[in-house]
Amino acid sequence: KIKLDTQQSGLQGKGDRGGDRADRATSEQVLDPRTRMLLLQMINRGIVSEIHGCLSTGKEANVYHAMSVSEDEDAAPIHRAVKVYKTSILVFKDRDNKSNNRAMVKLWAEKEMRNLRRIYATGIPCPEPLYLRLHVLAMGFIGSSKGIPAPRLKDVEFSREEAEERYRSLYIELLGYMRVMYQTCRLVHADLSEYNMLYHKKRLYIIDVSQSVEHDHPRSLEFLRMDIKNVSDFFKRKGVDTLPERALFQFIVS
Ligand code: ATP
Ligand code: MN
Repeated sequence: KIKLDTQQSGLQGKGDRGGDRADRATSEQVLDPRTRMLLLQMINRGIVSEIHGCLSTGKEANVYHAMSVSEDEDAAPIHRAVKVYKTSILVFKDRDNKSNNRAMVKLWAEKEMRNLRRIYATGIPCPEPLYLRLHVLAMGFIGSSKGIPAPRLKDVEFSREEAEERYRSLYIELLGYMRVMYQTCRLVHADLSEYNMLYHKKRLYIIDVSQSVEHDHPRSLEFLRMDIKNVSDFFKRKGVDTLPERALFQFIVS
């Protein structure tokens, strides 16, 4: 078992500015040697120069905060997010399942990259897809220039005075994204909810698109109805006078 520890593992490239590295490498996540090697490769190729702690430990993946620090001391560091699909992180007891899981997480990562590219290309706010290697995906970081990640829509807190208006306009904004995603990207998110949208610079960023499906998927319309329900339920709870779900469905597909 090997921990992701930038100090011990050398998961830190050029441009190290010192500081409390041991503290920074807060992640206690166990990474297998293959994953560590992929992360090192990414550093060697200059996609990122340092991999920091975990932004999130989810069911399917861990997301790490990474930075690209240039040799020019004055240049501002660029923040990145690196998503590592999980079944390959866990050390499996069941050896027979190992290769199957590897193949599966690789497929998920590929799907996420492909979907993210399509969504990003239409101008819908989402992380910029940057690099994919097996089950490791590097993307743009959604958050402040100091490296503070944007909150999920679920965790956003508006002041009492502005909440009503903010949620109403975010709802309208999202309806547009859902329609463009369907009409132009020809995708249904399929896990759209307040958990998979980040609030940043007063806009909604769509994330977590590895499970998104194309129109021709046999269950795409069923998934679209679920997305609509999740979104409607959330904004209703926030006091928004939402469209009837059937009307929203029609708006998106026609
Ligand atoms: P879960 O299994 O919990 O659903 P997940 O494996 O589906 O998680 P994501 O939803 O893609 O993974 O990301 C998990 C969390 O990591 C997000 O909720 C968000 O807080 C953070 N995150 C993901 N991508 C980025 C990014 N590009 N910039 C900033 N934070 C991010
Ligand atoms: Mn998620």
